[in-house]
Amino acid sequence: MKIETVAVHAGHAVDSATGAVAAPIYLSTTFERDIEGTYSRGFMYTRNDNPNRQALERGVAMLEAGDAAAAFGTGMAAAMALFQALAPGDHVLAHADAYYGTPRLLREIFLRWGLQADFIDMTNLDEVKKALRPNTKLAWVESPTNPLLKIVDLAAVAKIVHDAGALCVCDNTWAPVLQRPFELGADLVLYSTTKYFGGHCDVAGGIVVTKTDNELFQRIRSIQYEGGAVPSPFDCWLILRGIRTLPWRMRAHSENALKVAEFLARHRKVARVHYPGLRSHPGHEIAARQMSLFGGMLSLEVKEGYNAAMSVAVKTKIFIRATSLGGVESLIEHRASVEGPGTTSPEGLLRLSIGLENADDLIEDLDHALG
Ligand SMILES: *Cc1c(COP(=O)(O)O)cnc(C)c1O
Repeated sequence: MKIETVAVHAGHAVDSATGAVAAPIYLSTTFERDIEGTYSRGFMYTRNDNPNRQALERGVAMLEAGDAAAAFGTGMAAAMALFQALAPGDHVLAHADAYYGTPRLLREIFLRWGLQADFIDMTNLDEVKKALRPNTKLAWVESPTNPLLKIVDLAAVAKIVHDAGALCVCDNTWAPVLQRPFELGADLVLYSTTKYFGGHCDVAGGIVVTKTDNELFQRIRSIQYEGGAVPSPFDCWLILRGIRTLPWRMRAHSENALKVAEFLARHRKVARVHYPGLRSHPGHEIAARQMSLFGGMLSLEVKEGYNAAMSVAVKTKIFIRATSLGGVESLIEHRASVEGPGTTSPEGLLRLSIGLENADDLIEDLDHALG
């Protein structure tokens, strides 16, 4: 079946007890034991498993064409479980341009627990080769990156990493459906489902999907239910509902973003536009190879720097000044002031999460705000 069909039906079934077409939400924290003392219906206690969580995990595993998935309360909780599944002394190689919370998690929490980590520019394949060590267990790749939309050649990095005997994890939060990491060689895929999966800025979540249900994944599974950073049944229900429209939303986000990027690239007040769908983008060719469309995220640099950028974000009427991404509403954010000291984001840069409004209205809003 094609991805749109899988997205509508994965993890869903008509409720056999009532005939309900939309799935019920199982708030029960505990489940009845059989006379023999077993749990033949498969559920015992909601931290270990819950029908809504199981449906979400099955749905995402099917969508991604992986063996299994483990859902968490947020994207960072999912990342945390993945790092916790490694052993002290293991080395992690991460993209320097990864989502800023990921290096922070490694530096502030996992170095103390004995993981080693290096942050490198994975757009440079020689740098990847040089940074590998005998104890490198995992490479954390991300593409496109935040906020400069840099493109990493996922297949090339996966090959280098595999040749060294390590695993490749792809944080695919910015490009679900559009980019298929397992087909490009990734062993695990991570999503912050807070973003495009939920799609409406009203639910937080994270998920780890595995290509093969192996020992490492069993450790992640055990961390999920022993550690208990699990999503609520309602959160699982909302995210699974979001998946039903995900392929169509990704298409519309991408179509709108391309129109906005093309408009901005011609604007006299704009110095640079970072969007992999533009031919002028240095990663365009690789992106065209590994993505079916270029996604809904872009950033622009205004010519007059910090104050001008802040003033654009104040003047927009449709774009909302807020962090995060992937919702139906368009958002605008000045990354340098959000990230604070140590930011690598240019002063005049604004990041846009392009929503599902009409692109003409978004363009008019930006044109007016740029002045
Ligand atoms: C938001 C985000 C995360 C973190 O997810 P949370 O749900 O906020 O914990 C991780 N990676 C990427 C690429 C993200 O955009």
